[in-house]
Amino acid sequence: MKIFKDIAHSVLDVLFPRSCSVCGKTLAAHEKHICTACTLNIPYTCFHEVNFNPMEQLFAGKILIERAVGCFYYEKDNPYSNILHDIKYHNIPTLGRYMARNYAQTLVGCGLFSDIDCIIPVPLHISKWIRRGYNQSEHIARGFADILNVPVMTDIIIAEKGHETQTNKGIHERWLNTQGIFSAQDKDCLKDKHVLIVDDVVTTGATLLSAALTIADVPGIKISLATLGVARLQ
Ligand SMILES: [Zn+2]
Repeated sequence: MKIFKDIAHSVLDVLFPRSCSVCGKTLAAHEKHICTACTLNIPYTCFHEVNFNPMEQLFAGKILIERAVGCFYYEKDNPYSNILHDIKYHNIPTLGRYMARNYAQTLVGCGLFSDIDCIIPVPLHISKWIRRGYNQSEHIARGFADILNVPVMTDIIIAEKGHETQTNKGIHERWLNTQGIFSAQDKDCLKDKHVLIVDDVVTTGATLLSAALTIADVPGIKISLATLGVARLQ
């Protein structure tokens, strides 16, 4: 049966060539989403290898977290930013799950997150969800869950209101912009649990902090954070 599957994929590749999310070149049959050359050059942060890494420093003094890690650096003019654009705006959330799965494998291989009990994606406000049709962070969370074998919980942290795009705002404005955008319900089930909160990208950390603060008062809770992209602050 595998040979028929391979033939079907080859025919589909000829009829509808798939292209690399980073460089745009046509993918070979064995490649998925990103070509081999671009995969080899992903600008990984390797934050998981560093205690009190730059992402963890973003949250220091604001909330107690166990670990915070992001997979690769995200810069505006860097072609690797295409990965996040494809996940978020070009209707390819499966790329997010694929990237998260690969990243989670690396993390687990290094002994990280072996005690995670559940994953919560940063929620998308309903108005945005209707426009986009999906929450990219939920797809990324499911990629982590595939490897960590834990449930994804989408009904605990709720987006109360849509926040404006953060791109053109200064650091202080970004913090103000995310105040009170999330709330949490039925959070008692998180008592004594280690929760991984997942988002597509971290810039100032304001969005992740705002989400994490809604559950930080649960007794015995431990919170870790993970993203795919890590923006370099200007
Ligand atoms: Zn490529």
